[in-house]
Amino acid sequence: MTTGAGAGADRRAELTVRLSEIRAAIADACAAAQRDPFDVTMIAVTKTFPVDDAALLVDLGVGDLGENRDQDAKGKAAALAATAPGSLRWHFIGQLQTNKARSVARYATAVHSVDRNSLVDALADAVTRLGREPIQAFVQVNLDEAAGRGGARPDDVAALAERIAAAPGLELTGVMAVAPFGVDPRPAFDRLVTLSHSLQRDHPGATAVSAGMSGDFAQAIAAGATHLRIGSALLGPRAQVVG
Ligand SMILES: *Cc1c(COP(=O)(O)O)cnc(C)c1O
Repeated sequence: MTTGAGAGADRRAELTVRLSEIRAAIADACAAAQRDPFDVTMIAVTKTFPVDDAALLVDLGVGDLGENRDQDAKGKAAALAATAPGSLRWHFIGQLQTNKARSVARYATAVHSVDRNSLVDALADAVTRLGREPIQAFVQVNLDEAAGRGGARPDDVAALAERIAAAPGLELTGVMAVAPFGVDPRPAFDRLVTLSHSLQRDHPGATAVSAGMSGDFAQAIAAGATHLRIGSALLGPRAQVVG
């Protein structure tokens, strides 16, 4: 018991330090970009980490948590629903199969990975059946044609956004992308923000730009990101997951 409690206290101390470091770095990047930190939401990506870590972060004041697999997310959401404040928001950020839409709709405030018509329809249907408040839908854009990552082609974004806007139970919130790996992320973030601006001509409420991870959130803030998805910088390195 002593070991467990000690480990918990150590982890709490570690997360406290990392969280304040990241909040400071976000504030610095906002100051450099002359942006209001209030306009930037940090989502703590807890994937692969235990629910205890998510609970600690919530206790430290984090209100937005991200997960990329329904299997893991639903358990954590259920565990924290009992203890965490009702204002806790779960962001689903991974590739999503249509047959998981119903499950995700039970706990997710937002889905950042809406990238095809069939998923729009499945999420809308799930929300309607559950009778819950609308899900915030981000159109995931594939900025570098990299295979396997998901995301709509930039040319398909307008039509997909139209379908989301017309769907019952979905609120078109904005766009999301993962920067191409191994190159300067800034041009990709700039393309995403340009896309966001053209989307806002038809959908003025769709102002959110979900971009920036542990390694590139400062560049994302400079480009105009409103939602950062931060995992390893906050929680430490992830164990390799198979599958
Ligand atoms: C894992 C993940 C993140 C967080 O990545 P880090 O580099 O650990 O911050 C952000 N976005 C998506 C889509 C992810 O899958």
